[in-house]
Amino acid sequence: MDELGIDALLLSLGADLPYLTGYEAVPLERLTMLIVTVGGEATLVVPRLEAPRVTEQPDAFTVVAWDETDDPVALVARLAGAPATAAVGDQTWARFVLDLQAALPGTRFRKASEVTGPLRIVKDAAEIAALRAAAHAVDEIAGVMRERPFAGRREAEVHRELVERMLELGHERANFAIVASGPNGASPHHEPAGRVIGAGDVVLCDFGGTMHGYCSDITRMFFVGEPSPEVRDAYAVLVDAQEQAVRAATVGTPCEAVDATARSVIAEAGLGETFIHRTGHGIGAEAHEEPYLVAGNDLPLAPGHAFSVEPGIYLPGRFGLRLEDIVVATTGGPERLNEARRDLAVVG
Ligand code: ZN
Ligand code: ZN
Ligand code: ZN
Repeated sequence: MDELGIDALLLSLGADLPYLTGYEAVPLERLTMLIVTVGGEATLVVPRLEAPRVTEQPDAFTVVAWDETDDPVALVARLAGAPATAAVGDQTWARFVLDLQAALPGTRFRKASEVTGPLRIVKDAAEIAALRAAAHAVDEIAGVMRERPFAGRREAEVHRELVERMLELGHERANFAIVASGPNGASPHHEPAGRVIGAGDVVLCDFGGTMHGYCSDITRMFFVGEPSPEVRDAYAVLVDAQEQAVRAATVGTPCEAVDATARSVIAEAGLGETFIHRTGHGIGAEAHEEPYLVAGNDLPLAPGHAFSVEPGIYLPGRFGLRLEDIVVATTGGPERLNEARRDLAVVG
């Protein structure tokens, strides 16, 4: 904060607060906010009724509970001490930011991610262990799904199964479970619904959750019956693109170069137009965070960066394919956290 010229850090909703305190704010109309001032105290302002949920850490921060008739914005403004510059959590609700701006008219506001981003982007050994444990849980599910029937089931039923399995295997939260069959697969973030999966369908399953505060995110493809030569060939291109992109993800390589590697393999197969999103996103306490593997991001990968590598091929009206693993950049080379099989999964 000192280096960045930021006098006060104000954190509410989002992953920055639990990252620093172990406490996650409830998305409520009642304000929760951590105030950290340079050289000063850290204070967690919470609604009185949420205070019992806070695990106090007196070495790290003081808890101040506010009552229903108090003005929490005025309280935060007082604790922040009229800072020249304050960095406010990126996911703080606009209503609180606007009220804070009114309460601190002399303060210039910046984004808290300027402070927390560089800290959170590099994962330490404990964080990587947590990401690996979450990855292994979803790997197990991906393995089980190879033996499960798909034909005759609705996408929503498979979705529910994925959610239940994530919770059974230790995730405290299932963040998403995309099940996109047949033509629905061409929409990368398809909302699973009533479509009944049938013979010959290609089924995309992209699922993840949060386990011990860290996220999982995996995509595997399931083929109901032997796929056509066209589908088989496209899947082989995708596997190759993903493999080459993972290998390219070495320390010092710019994020955009990893994206370009995946993209060039798919383009060489004549499918360049069908890969309509970036190659990957960072992952940690949030499912999507920095670094983003996308053209224009020249940030070099550093040891401890954790990110997805997930190229896709989408043919509107027909089918979609995506393959996704979480990878960590290490001095010994890129390390995949997901170990689930990537070879063709033919299911019933
Ligand atoms: Zn996505
Ligand atoms: Zn995913
Ligand atoms: Zn992802």
